[in-house]
Amino acid sequence: MAKKQFKTESKRILDLMINSIYTHKEIFLRELISNASDAIDKLYFRSLTDQSVGLTREDFKINLTVDKAARTLTISDNGCGMTKEDLEQNLGVIAKSGTLDFKQEHDLKEDVDIIGQFGVGFYSAFMVAKKVTVLSKAYGADTAYCWQSSGADGYTITEAQKDAAGTEITLELKDNTGDENYDEFVEEYRLASIVHKYSDYIRYPIVMSMPNSRKKEDSDEYETVYEPTTLNSMVPLWRKNKSEIKEEEYNDFYQEKFYDFEKPLRVIHTKAEGTVCYNALLYIPAKAPMNYYTKEFEKGLQLYASGVMIMDKCPELLPDHFSFVRGLVDSQDLSLNISREMLQHDRQLKTIAASLEKKIKNELSSMLKNDRETYEQFFSVFGFQLKYGLYSNYGAKKEELKDLLLYYSVKEKKMLTLKEYQTAMPEDQKYIYYACGQTREQIARLPQIERIIDAGYDVLCMTEDVDEFALKMLHDYDGKEFRSASGNDLGLEDEKEKEDIQKISEENKDMLSFMKDALDGKVSEVRISARLRRHPVCLTTEGELSLEMEKVLNAMPLENQAKAQRVLEINAENPVFDTLCALYRDDQEKLKKYSRLLYAQALLIEGLSVEDPVAFSQEICELMTR
Ligand code: ADP
Ligand code: MG
Repeated sequence: MAKKQFKTESKRILDLMINSIYTHKEIFLRELISNASDAIDKLYFRSLTDQSVGLTREDFKINLTVDKAARTLTISDNGCGMTKEDLEQNLGVIAKSGTLDFKQEHDLKEDVDIIGQFGVGFYSAFMVAKKVTVLSKAYGADTAYCWQSSGADGYTITEAQKDAAGTEITLELKDNTGDENYDEFVEEYRLASIVHKYSDYIRYPIVMSMPNSRKKEDSDEYETVYEPTTLNSMVPLWRKNKSEIKEEEYNDFYQEKFYDFEKPLRVIHTKAEGTVCYNALLYIPAKAPMNYYTKEFEKGLQLYASGVMIMDKCPELLPDHFSFVRGLVDSQDLSLNISREMLQHDRQLKTIAASLEKKIKNELSSMLKNDRETYEQFFSVFGFQLKYGLYSNYGAKKEELKDLLLYYSVKEKKMLTLKEYQTAMPEDQKYIYYACGQTREQIARLPQIERIIDAGYDVLCMTEDVDEFALKMLHDYDGKEFRSASGNDLGLEDEKEKEDIQKISEENKDMLSFMKDALDGKVSEVRISARLRRHPVCLTTEGELSLEMEKVLNAMPLENQAKAQRVLEINAENPVFDTLCALYRDDQEKLKKYSRLLYAQALLIEGLSVEDPVAFSQEICELMTR
């Protein structure tokens, strides 16, 4: 019979499994049992609404059978089974192409951790088996089929005999070698301990015939009898008591279930009894999934009704600002055959969601308070989401979220909460100062902040698109208003200073207006600066819209382009100012040129690009060659 070939991707995974040097080969059993359990879930779920299935909860089982002489291990289930097409599709093509993507990025030899932490599925059977036989009959089908493969050279599918629906997978163990002994996988006690380690919480009984010592009747002698024994406790991890669970168990469960290579930062395990009863097991991941900040990302928690999974990602259970949380909720107050539409309006679900939101918030607050380092790690990954959550829905959640934010401080050179900034403010400081830019380093060099820093005040760095919008939404923290270092009024000058600036401005009114005209509508004003100390120029804005906000808004597909009102500020104490005054008297053509140069410099300082870099360069060269 002609052999069919595996799809290329599958073949690579298969090669990896066959030649695996991975030391925990035992996890193949976890994978096959988990598939059996999934298949039973499907048929059980159906049996709830379809009488003709003819099975009740107690009938569903996973059986392990060993044949020591033949060196085979069989895992069978009475779940939904597979049709011929299913066999072809599911076992001929690798489902988790994500595994492969990950492998392509990393060295193929580093299979060790991937296999351990990431479910690798059905093919892991080839880590221990030289030949795999899958006998399966789909529920409702008349014919059973047998899929068989000895590895990379392909597989066959033939018609076969099987009475009831379900799947039976038989592994013919690899031959022992000098280094590897596969006999352990037909040893009952070894298998029992593997099941206990990885599959204890599977909700259907995993049954195996186990040897037991029994006293013979009417005699003092012992004999070994084999009795069907259920190997797993069937209590899902989330239903166990916290005190019985080791950190490692929580982490393993998370990594297997949610396919994360990293351990979670935090585990929230709670049980509620009251108006609504539920168990929840939530995790705060250490890293964002690849698609987290894209439209493809779907938030949500797994939802179980009395231990049966009814939805993989229930979005109603998580608010957007905590969409990074992974985990599950199990409640006996939810109906098993509740529909998607009904769920959206379910009062119980809303109650659960509200209480989980509080729990997550508390966990984050306590992490911030007691484990700053971990919190900062968390914030560097998911802080954007929190800020965005504060800004969205017209700031509906701002009170809950504002104390979870961190911003980099120019003065302290570390992350600060708004509370920490406020507490450290000198008594005479009226406002909370911030500056926007691409990076902390760039902000720390901005001429706009010179005056603020000189006054002994701190400046918070805003480096993300959402930052300024979120601050605008907050308006103030504890009565202290936010002020941008580039805004029109820093609120710093005393009366004397104000008078001085007014005086110089008055004296140079004509020149300033000449310069503005020279800039041809690019700025709404050229003015004498009250904020510059050492640097000759900077760009600021008048009104609500800042340069950063302009940048963000114009990156969006909006009808009208946003335009911030730009102001070019000149430092009257810088020698350049005297040059400008002299030119206004003697060479106004040159002053026009210099105005353009100063404006270009101000743009560059802001991290913006000059409109005509070639012209800019030519003007500089002219200066250099004179
Ligand atoms: P995954 O479980 O992540 O989908 P696997 O490689 O473990 O990936 O399994 C591939 C597919 O094969 C499953 O999605 C399922 O459709 C099918 N399958 C595997 N084992 C069984 C089984 N015992 N009963 C029914 N279908 C199965
Ligand atoms: Mg699987």
